[in-house]
Amino acid sequence: MSNPAETAAIVAEPVPECPHCQKPMPLCICDSVTPIESKLSLLILQHPQEQDRALGTARLLAKHFEDATVRVGLSWPSLSKALGHPIENASHWAVLYLGSARAADLDVDGEIIALNRKGEVADNQRAILGKLEGVVLLDGTWSQAKALWWRNPWMLKCQRVILNPAHPSRYGRLRREPRKDGLSTIEAAATLLAGLERRPDIAATLNASFERLLTRYREVQAEMPELAPKPAPKGRRRDFRRSKKA
Ligand SMILES: [Zn+2]
Repeated sequence: MSNPAETAAIVAEPVPECPHCQKPMPLCICDSVTPIESKLSLLILQHPQEQDRALGTARLLAKHFEDATVRVGLSWPSLSKALGHPIENASHWAVLYLGSARAADLDVDGEIIALNRKGEVADNQRAILGKLEGVVLLDGTWSQAKALWWRNPWMLKCQRVILNPAHPSRYGRLRREPRKDGLSTIEAAATLLAGLERRPDIAATLNASFERLLTRYREVQAEMPELAPKPAPKGRRRDFRRSKKA
C-alpha cells in the first residue's frame, strides 16, 4: 500500500479548492445543497487545528442555512462577538458539549437532553428546549471541543445540551465510533434542529447531504487517494466523539 502523504507529495498541480465548503473540488457537493428554513440560528465554532478537509462537515452544514455562522478560532469574548451581532439572552442559546456526560448513563427519554451547571439532567426539559433561539456547535476532535469549551466561559451562560442519538453515525467504518453518541457535526445539527423544531425533514435533508459526501469520498478515495486520505488513526478523531482514556 502506498503512503497517502508520499502520494500527495508527488502531485505536481495543486487541486483547486471550493471557496464555499473549502474541500478539494472533486469532493465538493455544494451544487446539490438545498436551502433549509429554520427558526433556530446556528453558530459553528471550529478549532483552528481541525483540518479534516475531506470529511469535515461544518461548512457543508452551514451552506444549508441562511442564518448560520462558521468561526475558526480558539476564544471569543462573548456569544455576541462570536456571532458578530448583539444577542439579547445567551440562555436562549444551546451549546452542544458532551464533556464527560454520557446520555446512556442518564435516566432520560428523547434524543436531546438539557443539563444544568452541575452536568445533571435539568428540570423542566420541555420548557428549556422550547425557548431556544440558537445552537452553538463545537467542531473539532474531542480534545479540541474541550479546549473550546474551557476557553469560552460565556458558554456557561448558554444552555448546555447533549445528545442521545437513536442511530449511530453514518461515518460507519470510515471513522471508528467509540461512543454511540459520537456524531459528525452535520449529523449532530440534524438531530438537534429536527428535534427542537419538530421537523424531521431537516434531519432528512442534512443526513442526505452527509450521505452524498460519504459516497463522493469513497469514489474519490478509489480514484484519487491523495485527495481522500484514509481515515485518521486512533487518537485523531473529530467532532463529538471522544477517545477512550488510556
Ligand atoms: Zn463546495
